[in-house]
Amino acid sequence: MKPHMAEDGGKKRVLVTGGAGFIGSHVVDLLLEQGHRVAVVDNLSTGHRENVNPQAEFFLADVGSPDLAAVLDAVRPQAVVHLAAQASVSVSVADPVRDATANILGSVNLLQQCVRTAVEKFVYVSTGGALYGEPQYLPCDENHPINPLSPYGVSKHTVEHYLYFYRQVHGLAYTVLRLANVYGPRQDPFGEAGVVAIFTQRMLDGEQVVIYGSGEQERDFVFVMDCARAAVLALSRGDGEAYNIGCGRGTTVNALFAMMKSLTGYAREPRYDPPRPGDVFRSFLNADKARRELGWKPSVSLEEGLRQTIDHFRQGSKPR
Ligand code: NAD
Repeated sequence: MKPHMAEDGGKKRVLVTGGAGFIGSHVVDLLLEQGHRVAVVDNLSTGHRENVNPQAEFFLADVGSPDLAAVLDAVRPQAVVHLAAQASVSVSVADPVRDATANILGSVNLLQQCVRTAVEKFVYVSTGGALYGEPQYLPCDENHPINPLSPYGVSKHTVEHYLYFYRQVHGLAYTVLRLANVYGPRQDPFGEAGVVAIFTQRMLDGEQVVIYGSGEQERDFVFVMDCARAAVLALSRGDGEAYNIGCGRGTTVNALFAMMKSLTGYAREPRYDPPRPGDVFRSFLNADKARRELGWKPSVSLEEGLRQTIDHFRQGSKPR
Protein backbone atom coordinates (compact mmCIF):
# COMPACT_ATOMS: atom_id res chain seq x y z
CA MET A 1 0.00 0.00 0.00
CA LYS A 2 1.41 3.32 -1.05
CA PRO A 3 -0.47 6.13 0.65
CA HIS A 4 0.92 8.94 -1.52
CA MET A 5 -0.11 7.44 -4.83
CA ALA A 6 -2.59 8.91 -7.23
CA GLU A 7 -4.32 5.84 -8.66
CA ASP A 8 -7.14 7.53 -10.55
CA GLY A 9 -7.63 7.03 -14.29
CA GLY A 10 -4.10 5.89 -15.16
CA LYS A 11 -2.63 9.03 -13.61
CA LYS A 12 0.62 8.28 -11.87
CA ARG A 13 2.94 9.68 -9.30
CA VAL A 14 6.16 10.10 -11.29
CA LEU A 15 9.67 11.02 -10.14
CA VAL A 16 11.78 12.63 -12.87
CA THR A 17 15.52 12.64 -12.21
CA GLY A 18 17.33 15.43 -14.04
CA GLY A 19 14.01 17.29 -14.34
CA ALA A 20 15.78 20.67 -14.11
CA GLY A 21 17.74 19.87 -17.27
CA PHE A 22 17.01 20.40 -20.93
CA ILE A 23 15.12 17.20 -21.82
CA GLY A 24 13.90 16.42 -18.29
CA SER A 25 12.10 19.75 -17.93
CA HIS A 26 10.06 19.02 -21.08
CA VAL A 27 9.22 15.55 -19.77
CA VAL A 28 7.98 17.17 -16.54
CA ASP A 29 5.81 19.68 -18.45
CA LEU A 30 4.20 16.96 -20.58
CA LEU A 31 3.54 14.67 -17.60
CA LEU A 32 1.84 17.53 -15.74
CA GLU A 33 -0.15 18.45 -18.85
CA GLN A 34 -1.45 14.88 -18.95
CA GLY A 35 -2.55 15.05 -15.32
CA HIS A 36 0.22 13.06 -13.64
CA ARG A 37 1.67 14.14 -10.31
CA VAL A 38 5.33 14.95 -10.71
CA ALA A 39 8.35 15.31 -8.45
CA VAL A 40 11.83 16.24 -9.63
CA VAL A 41 15.19 15.31 -8.16
CA ASP A 42 18.20 17.16 -9.53
CA ASN A 43 21.58 18.28 -8.19
CA LEU A 44 21.54 21.37 -10.47
CA SER A 45 25.04 20.55 -11.76
CA THR A 46 23.98 21.54 -15.29
CA GLY A 47 20.23 22.06 -14.78
CA HIS A 48 18.44 25.20 -13.64
CA ARG A 49 15.84 25.58 -10.89
CA GLU A 50 13.86 27.92 -13.19
CA ASN A 51 13.46 25.08 -15.70
CA VAL A 52 11.33 23.17 -13.22
CA ASN A 53 7.61 23.61 -13.68
CA PRO A 54 6.21 25.21 -10.49
CA GLN A 55 3.52 22.50 -10.32
CA ALA A 56 6.21 19.88 -9.71
CA GLU A 57 7.69 19.19 -6.30
CA PHE A 58 11.46 19.80 -6.32
CA PHE A 59 14.17 17.97 -4.38
CA LEU A 60 17.77 19.17 -4.53
CA ALA A 61 19.84 15.98 -4.29
CA ASP A 62 22.39 13.91 -6.13
CA VAL A 63 21.07 10.58 -7.40
CA GLY A 64 24.28 8.96 -6.18
CA SER A 65 24.02 10.22 -2.61
CA PRO A 66 22.49 8.59 0.49
CA ASP A 67 20.02 11.55 0.55
CA LEU A 68 18.17 9.92 -2.32
CA ALA A 69 16.50 7.47 0.07
CA ALA A 70 14.63 10.31 1.78
CA VAL A 71 13.44 11.60 -1.61
CA LEU A 72 12.01 8.22 -2.59
CA ASP A 73 10.36 7.92 0.84
CA ALA A 74 8.78 11.36 0.49
CA VAL A 75 7.59 10.88 -3.09
CA ARG A 76 6.78 7.15 -3.18
CA PRO A 77 6.59 7.22 -6.98
CA GLN A 78 4.88 4.56 -9.05
CA ALA A 79 7.17 5.39 -11.94
CA VAL A 80 10.60 6.93 -12.39
CA VAL A 81 11.91 8.61 -15.54
CA HIS A 82 15.69 8.68 -15.17
CA LEU A 83 17.48 11.46 -17.06
CA ALA A 84 19.98 12.70 -14.46
CA ALA A 85 23.42 12.16 -15.94
CA GLN A 86 26.72 13.63 -16.87
CA ALA A 87 25.61 14.17 -20.49
CA SER A 88 28.70 15.47 -22.27
CA VAL A 89 30.85 13.23 -24.48
CA SER A 90 33.90 15.49 -24.16
CA VAL A 91 33.65 15.73 -20.36
CA SER A 92 33.54 11.93 -20.28
CA VAL A 93 36.70 11.69 -22.39
CA ALA A 94 38.49 14.20 -20.14
CA ASP A 95 37.24 12.71 -16.87
CA PRO A 96 35.92 9.14 -17.22
CA VAL A 97 35.83 8.66 -13.44
CA ARG A 98 33.45 11.57 -12.96
CA ASP A 99 31.33 10.27 -15.84
CA ALA A 100 31.14 6.74 -14.46
CA THR A 101 30.44 7.98 -10.93
CA ALA A 102 27.43 10.03 -12.02
CA ASN A 103 26.10 7.76 -14.75
CA ILE A 104 26.78 4.27 -13.44
CA LEU A 105 26.98 4.54 -9.64
CA GLY A 106 24.28 7.22 -9.53
CA SER A 107 21.94 5.00 -11.54
CA VAL A 108 22.64 1.91 -9.43
CA ASN A 109 21.96 3.88 -6.24
CA LEU A 110 18.68 5.04 -7.76
CA LEU A 111 17.74 1.51 -8.83
CA GLN A 112 18.38 0.20 -5.32
CA GLN A 113 16.01 2.83 -3.95
CA CYS A 114 13.41 1.99 -6.60
CA VAL A 115 13.44 -1.66 -5.55
CA ARG A 116 13.28 -0.74 -1.87
CA THR A 117 10.22 1.47 -2.40
CA ALA A 118 8.52 -0.89 -4.91
CA VAL A 119 8.56 1.43 -7.93
CA GLU A 120 6.50 -0.20 -10.69
CA LYS A 121 8.07 1.21 -13.85
CA PHE A 122 11.49 2.65 -14.65
CA VAL A 123 12.04 4.61 -17.88
CA TYR A 124 15.73 5.01 -18.63
CA VAL A 125 16.87 7.71 -21.04
CA SER A 126 19.89 6.30 -22.81
CA THR A 127 21.71 7.36 -25.96
CA GLY A 128 21.48 6.10 -29.53
CA GLY A 129 24.03 8.55 -30.88
CA ALA A 130 26.92 7.46 -28.63
CA LEU A 131 26.15 3.75 -28.25
CA TYR A 132 26.58 2.06 -31.60
CA GLY A 133 30.00 3.50 -32.44
CA GLU A 134 30.91 4.07 -36.08
CA PRO A 135 27.93 2.33 -37.76
CA GLN A 136 28.32 -0.94 -39.63
CA TYR A 137 25.05 -0.11 -41.40
CA LEU A 138 22.65 2.81 -41.43
CA PRO A 139 20.23 3.67 -40.04
CA CYS A 140 21.21 1.75 -36.88
CA ASP A 141 18.45 -0.39 -35.40
CA GLU A 142 18.48 -1.72 -31.84
CA ASN A 143 20.28 -4.91 -32.93
CA HIS A 144 23.29 -3.01 -34.25
CA PRO A 145 26.50 -4.02 -32.39
CA ILE A 146 27.22 -1.84 -29.36
CA ASN A 147 30.68 -0.25 -29.70
CA PRO A 148 30.76 3.05 -27.82
CA LEU A 149 33.62 5.38 -28.71
CA SER A 150 33.44 7.39 -25.50
CA PRO A 151 33.26 6.73 -21.76
CA TYR A 152 29.86 8.44 -21.90
CA GLY A 153 28.55 5.81 -24.34
CA VAL A 154 30.01 3.06 -22.16
CA SER A 155 28.49 4.41 -18.94
CA LYS A 156 25.06 4.99 -20.48
CA HIS A 157 24.98 1.49 -21.93
CA THR A 158 26.22 -0.16 -18.72
CA VAL A 159 23.03 0.89 -16.98
CA GLU A 160 21.01 -1.02 -19.60
CA HIS A 161 22.68 -4.22 -18.31
CA TYR A 162 21.81 -3.33 -14.72
CA LEU A 163 18.21 -2.84 -15.79
CA TYR A 164 18.08 -6.37 -17.17
CA PHE A 165 19.39 -7.64 -13.85
CA TYR A 166 16.89 -5.59 -11.81
CA ARG A 167 13.99 -6.86 -13.90
CA GLN A 168 15.05 -10.51 -13.80
CA VAL A 169 15.96 -10.58 -10.14
CA HIS A 170 13.80 -7.89 -8.52
CA GLY A 171 10.89 -7.71 -10.98
CA LEU A 172 11.40 -4.01 -11.81
CA ALA A 173 9.72 -3.25 -15.15
CA TYR A 174 11.70 -0.92 -17.38
CA THR A 175 11.94 0.64 -20.82
CA VAL A 176 15.11 2.05 -22.39
CA LEU A 177 14.91 5.00 -24.79
CA ARG A 178 18.01 5.48 -26.92
CA LEU A 179 17.75 9.08 -28.05
CA ALA A 180 19.46 10.49 -31.12
CA ASN A 181 20.75 14.11 -31.10
CA VAL A 182 18.15 16.06 -29.21
CA TYR A 183 17.64 19.78 -29.79
CA GLY A 184 15.10 22.41 -28.83
CA PRO A 185 14.20 25.17 -26.37
CA ARG A 186 16.12 25.23 -23.04
CA GLN A 187 19.17 23.42 -24.38
CA ASP A 188 22.30 24.91 -22.84
CA PRO A 189 24.13 26.98 -25.49
CA PHE A 190 27.24 27.37 -23.35
CA GLY A 191 28.04 23.71 -22.74
CA GLU A 192 30.03 21.47 -25.05
CA ALA A 193 27.11 19.42 -26.31
CA GLY A 194 24.15 20.57 -28.34
CA VAL A 195 25.29 21.84 -31.71
CA VAL A 196 21.91 23.45 -32.46
CA ALA A 197 21.88 25.44 -29.20
CA ILE A 198 25.50 26.52 -29.65
CA PHE A 199 24.98 27.55 -33.30
CA THR A 200 21.75 29.40 -32.46
CA GLN A 201 23.31 31.45 -29.68
CA ARG A 202 26.40 32.30 -31.72
CA MET A 203 24.43 33.19 -34.84
CA LEU A 204 22.03 35.44 -32.93
CA ASP A 205 24.99 37.13 -31.20
CA GLY A 206 26.82 37.50 -34.55
CA GLU A 207 29.76 35.51 -33.18
CA GLN A 208 32.03 33.06 -35.00
CA VAL A 209 30.47 29.60 -35.47
CA VAL A 210 32.98 26.74 -35.20
CA ILE A 211 32.53 23.39 -36.95
CA TYR A 212 34.71 20.52 -35.73
CA GLY A 213 36.06 18.42 -38.62
CA SER A 214 34.84 18.73 -42.20
CA GLY A 215 31.22 19.40 -41.31
CA GLU A 216 30.26 16.37 -43.40
CA GLN A 217 29.59 14.33 -40.24
CA GLU A 218 25.92 13.33 -40.07
CA ARG A 219 23.57 13.42 -37.11
CA ASP A 220 19.96 12.47 -36.51
CA PHE A 221 18.34 15.57 -35.01
CA VAL A 222 15.19 14.89 -32.99
CA PHE A 223 13.06 17.59 -31.39
CA VAL A 224 12.94 17.63 -27.59
CA MET A 225 9.15 17.57 -27.36
CA ASP A 226 9.03 14.43 -29.51
CA CYS A 227 11.45 12.85 -27.02
CA ALA A 228 9.28 13.92 -24.08
CA ARG A 229 6.34 12.19 -25.77
CA ALA A 230 8.37 8.98 -26.09
CA ALA A 231 9.16 9.07 -22.36
CA VAL A 232 5.50 9.46 -21.44
CA LEU A 233 4.45 6.62 -23.80
CA ALA A 234 7.12 4.40 -22.24
CA LEU A 235 5.47 4.72 -18.81
CA SER A 236 2.88 2.19 -19.89
CA ARG A 237 4.51 0.32 -22.79
CA GLY A 238 7.62 -1.56 -23.85
CA ASP A 239 8.53 -3.50 -20.72
CA GLY A 240 12.02 -5.00 -20.89
CA GLU A 241 12.77 -3.39 -24.26
CA ALA A 242 15.09 -0.75 -25.72
CA TYR A 243 13.89 1.69 -28.39
CA ASN A 244 15.71 4.05 -30.70
CA ILE A 245 14.17 7.51 -30.74
CA GLY A 246 15.23 9.46 -33.81
CA CYS A 247 14.10 10.65 -37.21
CA GLY A 248 15.93 8.00 -39.25
CA ARG A 249 17.69 10.57 -41.39
CA GLY A 250 21.19 11.98 -41.26
CA THR A 251 21.76 15.72 -41.61
CA THR A 252 25.31 16.96 -42.10
CA VAL A 253 26.56 19.69 -39.81
CA ASN A 254 27.22 21.78 -42.94
CA ALA A 255 23.57 21.38 -44.03
CA LEU A 256 22.43 22.26 -40.51
CA PHE A 257 24.63 25.35 -40.59
CA ALA A 258 23.12 26.42 -43.93
CA MET A 259 19.52 25.96 -42.68
CA MET A 260 20.19 27.86 -39.49
CA LYS A 261 22.08 30.58 -41.32
CA SER A 262 19.04 31.30 -43.43
CA LEU A 263 16.60 31.08 -40.49
CA THR A 264 18.64 33.49 -38.33
CA GLY A 265 20.00 35.77 -41.07
CA TYR A 266 23.58 35.06 -39.94
CA ALA A 267 26.05 36.73 -42.29
CA ARG A 268 29.32 34.94 -41.55
CA GLU A 269 30.94 31.71 -42.72
CA PRO A 270 31.91 28.95 -40.26
CA ARG A 271 35.44 28.31 -39.01
CA TYR A 272 36.62 24.70 -39.30
CA ASP A 273 38.59 23.27 -36.34
CA PRO A 274 40.03 19.73 -35.90
CA PRO A 275 37.50 16.99 -35.03
CA ARG A 276 36.95 16.17 -31.35
CA PRO A 277 37.89 12.78 -29.90
CA GLY A 278 34.99 10.51 -28.99
CA ASP A 279 32.62 11.87 -31.66
CA VAL A 280 31.34 9.38 -34.23
CA PHE A 281 31.30 10.48 -37.88
CA ARG A 282 27.89 9.33 -39.05
CA SER A 283 24.98 8.34 -36.92
CA PHE A 284 21.27 8.04 -37.51
CA LEU A 285 18.72 5.72 -36.05
CA ASN A 286 16.00 3.42 -37.24
CA ALA A 287 13.03 4.03 -34.91
CA ASP A 288 10.60 1.54 -36.52
CA LYS A 289 10.42 -0.51 -33.31
CA ALA A 290 9.27 2.56 -31.33
CA ARG A 291 6.64 3.23 -33.99
CA ARG A 292 5.34 -0.35 -33.84
CA GLU A 293 5.48 -0.96 -30.10
CA LEU A 294 5.28 2.44 -28.41
CA GLY A 295 3.09 4.12 -31.02
CA TRP A 296 5.75 6.84 -31.36
CA LYS A 297 6.93 8.73 -34.39
CA PRO A 298 8.60 12.11 -34.78
CA SER A 299 6.04 14.84 -35.38
CA VAL A 300 8.17 17.98 -35.73
CA SER A 301 10.25 18.53 -38.88
CA LEU A 302 13.82 19.78 -38.54
CA GLU A 303 12.92 23.11 -40.11
CA GLU A 304 9.94 23.64 -37.77
CA GLY A 305 11.93 22.52 -34.72
CA LEU A 306 14.80 24.87 -35.61
CA ARG A 307 12.33 27.70 -36.03
CA GLN A 308 10.86 27.08 -32.56
CA THR A 309 14.34 26.79 -31.03
CA ILE A 310 15.56 30.02 -32.63
CA ASP A 311 12.37 31.83 -31.51
CA HIS A 312 12.99 30.63 -27.95
CA PHE A 313 16.57 31.91 -28.01
CA ARG A 314 15.45 35.19 -29.60
CA GLN A 315 13.18 35.77 -26.60
CA GLY A 316 16.29 35.75 -24.42
CA SER A 317 16.47 31.96 -23.97
CA LYS A 318 14.59 32.25 -20.69
CA PRO A 319 14.37 28.79 -19.09
CA ARG A 320 10.55 28.93 -18.80
P1 NAD B 1 21.17 18.22 -19.06
O1 NAD B 1 22.58 18.37 -18.59
O2 NAD B 1 20.40 19.44 -19.43
O3 NAD B 1 20.31 17.39 -18.02
C1 NAD B 1 20.84 16.56 -17.04
C2 NAD B 1 20.21 16.96 -15.71
O4 NAD B 1 20.63 16.03 -14.72
C3 NAD B 1 20.66 18.35 -15.24
O5 NAD B 1 19.53 19.05 -14.75
C4 NAD B 1 21.66 18.05 -14.12
O6 NAD B 1 21.69 19.08 -13.16
C5 NAD B 1 21.11 16.75 -13.59
N1 NAD B 1 22.13 15.89 -12.97
C6 NAD B 1 23.33 15.53 -13.49
N2 NAD B 1 23.97 14.69 -12.66
C7 NAD B 1 23.13 14.49 -11.61
C8 NAD B 1 23.21 13.73 -10.41
N3 NAD B 1 24.28 12.97 -10.16
N4 NAD B 1 22.18 13.78 -9.55
C9 NAD B 1 21.09 14.54 -9.80
N5 NAD B 1 20.96 15.28 -10.91
C10 NAD B 1 21.96 15.26 -11.79
O7 NAD B 1 21.26 17.22 -20.31
P2 NAD B 1 20.13 16.65 -21.27
O8 NAD B 1 20.62 16.84 -22.64
O9 NAD B 1 18.78 17.16 -20.89
O10 NAD B 1 20.24 15.09 -20.94
C11 NAD B 1 19.27 14.40 -20.19
C12 NAD B 1 19.44 12.91 -20.40
O11 NAD B 1 19.26 12.56 -21.77
C13 NAD B 1 20.83 12.39 -20.02
O12 NAD B 1 20.65 11.15 -19.35
C14 NAD B 1 21.51 12.17 -21.34
O13 NAD B 1 22.48 11.15 -21.27
C15 NAD B 1 20.34 11.78 -22.22
N6 NAD B 1 20.55 12.03 -23.65
C16 NAD B 1 20.69 13.31 -24.13
C17 NAD B 1 20.84 13.51 -25.50
C18 NAD B 1 20.96 14.91 -26.08
O14 NAD B 1 21.12 15.01 -27.30
N7 NAD B 1 20.86 15.98 -25.31
C19 NAD B 1 20.89 12.42 -26.36
C20 NAD B 1 20.78 11.13 -25.84
C21 NAD B 1 20.58 10.96 -24.48
